Amino acid sequence: MARPFNFSAGPAAMPAEVLQQAADEMLDWRGSGMSVMEMSHRGKEFSAIIETAEADLRELLAVPAEFRILFMQGGGLAENAIVPLNLSRGGKVDFVITGSWSEKSIKEAARYARPVLAASNVDSGHTTLPAPTSWNLSADAQYVHICSNETIHGIELQELPDLKALGSNAPLVIDFSSHVASRPVDWSRVGLAFGGAQKNLGPAGVTLVVVREELLGHALPVCPSAFDYKTVAANASMYNTPPTFSIYMAGLTFQWLKRQTEGGLSGVAAMEQRNIAKASLLYDFLDGSALYFNKVASDCRSRMNIPFFLRDEALNDAFLAGAKGAGLLQLKGHKSVGGMRASIYNAMPLEGVQALVQYMRDFEKTRA
Ligand code: PMP
Repeated sequence: MARPFNFSAGPAAMPAEVLQQAADEMLDWRGSGMSVMEMSHRGKEFSAIIETAEADLRELLAVPAEFRILFMQGGGLAENAIVPLNLSRGGKVDFVITGSWSEKSIKEAARYARPVLAASNVDSGHTTLPAPTSWNLSADAQYVHICSNETIHGIELQELPDLKALGSNAPLVIDFSSHVASRPVDWSRVGLAFGGAQKNLGPAGVTLVVVREELLGHALPVCPSAFDYKTVAANASMYNTPPTFSIYMAGLTFQWLKRQTEGGLSGVAAMEQRNIAKASLLYDFLDGSALYFNKVASDCRSRMNIPFFLRDEALNDAFLAGAKGAGLLQLKGHKSVGGMRASIYNAMPLEGVQALVQYMRDFEKTRA
């Protein structure tokens, strides 16, 4: 039975193969007589699951040895507090505002640190990306925060900034929640990266943090122990009970990612090729259409989240109802921007985007 194509921004579609494998293993994980949900996190079975997941992720994202990989809880929004609690030392931190998620981050950081606005695209309605050379970076910032893919506004940095070249010695913090594992990461430019799993890595419940070892050990005294990166790292993400089932599902997704190939490439490099093809197909269609349009400047359009609008908004409900009937789910835009949004993460095959474009073309014809 073919499943519908699901364009949710997150929690988002997962590879059917991964869901099937989890279903097969649900009652008895590999002869253990237990579901993964029923296992002690300190037993040998779960230890193997989390160690394999971490090693696979390190390989997939090519994470260098000087970084620790942490599996935490609380999602991206909790990290908006946990990052300043751990890295700010209560001092100055620079923020680049590119959309709703970085706006939330700067507000939360103000509770623990002194955030400074280095650049913002608010004047363009979050449709452009301020050039890094125009960022007003502080000489004494503890870190610089950016959201490398703004899920709601559909803005993605095509290259991470080289802060050193811009005159800053601060580590770069990236919120990569909504495009992690969709493209390679240039770790030489990163101090810390965080992201919730529920878009590209697995189900909600686990938050990935990849942090340079040298940044650990400076948490503010008020930082909860369970959120002190040093404590989490020292306990191999098991200081408190980790979200075991979410980690297991993410681990199955990492193995699925490792099996993917495209044009002679594998893993994340293969996904990147596929994601470029998917996004180009949809943007090219939008740009050539008389009915639909996307507002984002072409140099910073997201490959993962593509917001678009119908020139006649009165057609929105009919568009969504027809899409659902055609097996194209969860296309409604975020309430703060309206319109539509197609989130096309790793688990969305090219065929899903082709089916969407076909539906949009047919819908446009019937309304012409
Ligand atoms: N950052 C980004 C870029 C996101 O897309 C989201 C979720 N949509 C969050 C942070 C917040 O994540 P959570 O709801 O897991 O806290």
